[in-house]
Amino acid sequence: MDEIVGLCKRRGFIFQTSEIYGGINGFFDYGPLGVELRRNIKDAWWKDMVHLRDDVVGLDSAIIMHSDVWKASGHVDSFTDPMVDCKESKMRYRADHLFYSPVRVDGQEIGCVSLLESEKMESEAEELAQAMKRKLAVQGELEPLELKPYTEAPEEDWAKVPSPATGEAGSLTPPREFNMMFKTHVGALQDASSVAYLRPETAQGIFANFKNVVDTGRVKMPFGIAQVGKAFRNEITPRNFIFRSREFEQMEIEYFIPPDEDIWERYHREWIDTRKGWFASIGLTGEHLGEEVHPRDKLAHYARACTDITFKFPFGEQELEGIAARGNYDLMQHQQASGKPLEFFDEARKEKYVPHVIEPSLGVDRTFLAVVCAAYTKDEIDGEPRTVLKLHPRVAPVKAGVFPLMKNKPELMEKARGLYEKLRRRWNVFFDASGAIGRRYRRMDEIGTPFGITVDFDSLEDGTVTLRDRDTTKQERVGEDELIAAMEERIGW
Ligand code: ATP
Repeated sequence: MDEIVGLCKRRGFIFQTSEIYGGINGFFDYGPLGVELRRNIKDAWWKDMVHLRDDVVGLDSAIIMHSDVWKASGHVDSFTDPMVDCKESKMRYRADHLFYSPVRVDGQEIGCVSLLESEKMESEAEELAQAMKRKLAVQGELEPLELKPYTEAPEEDWAKVPSPATGEAGSLTPPREFNMMFKTHVGALQDASSVAYLRPETAQGIFANFKNVVDTGRVKMPFGIAQVGKAFRNEITPRNFIFRSREFEQMEIEYFIPPDEDIWERYHREWIDTRKGWFASIGLTGEHLGEEVHPRDKLAHYARACTDITFKFPFGEQELEGIAARGNYDLMQHQQASGKPLEFFDEARKEKYVPHVIEPSLGVDRTFLAVVCAAYTKDEIDGEPRTVLKLHPRVAPVKAGVFPLMKNKPELMEKARGLYEKLRRRWNVFFDASGAIGRRYRRMDEIGTPFGITVDFDSLEDGTVTLRDRDTTKQERVGEDELIAAMEERIGW
């Protein structure tokens, strides 16, 4: 993971925000290459989920909405995570991410170990327990640890659990709920009536506009409303680079379906498959992905099902996208709170109802991280080590590098420049005339550019160029028309 973070910084994909002032935890800036990759992810999603579907329309709602939206949706009361503070170090943790276990030797408790949730926490906890046993010079057999989250700790355990910051017990507060919405005020007066929230999800903007879209959009059931936009969550412990940040972007669809009991399961499954197909179209295939079905007893009371599409990140397999069957909870809540009917008149059935909804909800930044992790490869070319991002051409920030073989030959420069001008009208391409050709290829490999196009002396004679494939490094000679067709086919648009 450190290597990936290093590459992202070194090559201008992602920077810590306000870095010159020491940064601020949980916020990131996207550099010249990052912004291109990000836009390509969003464009690919919009193209496939909106433009290429007859049953989905788009929306772009305001980030700040009436605060009653968030009361009705339940966010003001319950968009919370459990947190725990260390009074000694002033560190704050997600209580459900802090695990602890009593340490027992031959039936006798000698203390407690605690650590933050990770793939390796079982073995790390075991090491901590062994170290404790050695330090206290206790003889006997260490009993198996029973790790559980701090949220499940009985009151009498609170004082026994060591703080992960200090390693000492007695400084952790009891777990308490923390609302993750960022609050602000609208207008010059700062009182209770001017409170507003930065949206923690884009979904509520869709529900609040349901009637507007139905009245103006000529939609037929079933149909979806899609939105891409920023969301803000004051995460207690932002971590794993851009995986969990405080400002991020979401791509969400609310797909409205009739309320019949027997159809939601089919639509839910269809959306899981559709979304997996889309991931494959940007290079995230079966080997990278998994599915995690939320157990029924862990679902919100109104939800019927939720399946996460997971990705095998270097720090463990984690949620990439959540696909929930939410019943008609949100529209009913807004209908009740606003007093405005949010029913749909189904022409085909000659019937009015409040539709149910399937919600595929994905983070742009999490997708970005998954795409980069899946693409990051180290291999060897002619005995030389190489770092290459095997990005799918669809999302690659630069589609091709255009190289005149030699810088000091005006006719090569002119021909290459002409080709570059032609290609750049269509795609983001890069012109590079400096350094040995092999070095120029390597620079492009590291940022995931799928094609290298070299203009050499033969090009002046017969108009062909060499087209180099980033992954195989194979080169072929192609004419200009073939070049564009070959690129088009692999980029996909
Ligand atoms: P988690 O359990 O990881 O906090 P969640 O279940 O609360 O996520 P949702 O509310 O379902 O997440 O949000 C939908 C999607 O938005 C997630 O699948 C993820 O891709 C993205 N997302 C949510 N929170 C964050 C965050 N803090 N940083 C980056 N992306 C996020």
